[in-house]
Amino acid sequence: MCSLCKEYISKENVIYESHFWFVMFNRFPYLPGHIMLVPKRPIPNLEDITVEERVEMINELIDAQTLLINALQNKFGVTSSNIGINLGPNSGASIPTHLHIHLVPRRPNDSNFMHTCTFSGFGERHDPIMYDKMYSNARMWIIEEASKRKIKEKL
Ligand SMILES: [Zn+2]
Repeated sequence: MCSLCKEYISKENVIYESHFWFVMFNRFPYLPGHIMLVPKRPIPNLEDITVEERVEMINELIDAQTLLINALQNKFGVTSSNIGINLGPNSGASIPTHLHIHLVPRRPNDSNFMHTCTFSGFGERHDPIMYDKMYSNARMWIIEEASKRKIKEKL
């Protein structure tokens, strides 16, 4: 069983779930507020997703993206985001056996693409106490926003 399957069972970092997918906080966030959309089935590749899972995937991706913006735009200054999937053994995926889609909220001057991908950003990252506070606040605001969503099953 991979770490994402264990995360789904433990629910510690799971924000909400739909029929085929769940949304969780990344345990090792590229930036504060980094969440992931993950299929409940441990499938490695996009082509393994069924038609029903595909339909739900795009709905859930849009909902998760909307959630991030609603949760973090005003309180955290989030203006943008990166959405990405690492596919295959040479993509840099840390868990290549279980597909997952990264959603990373972005603020002005928070970092750039390479810093984000290599965990080597600047600014708040050089102040661990400030960074921990930002991470905790982003997590709290996302949970608050998710709790407003009546269409989702609250955990
Ligand atoms: Zn798994």
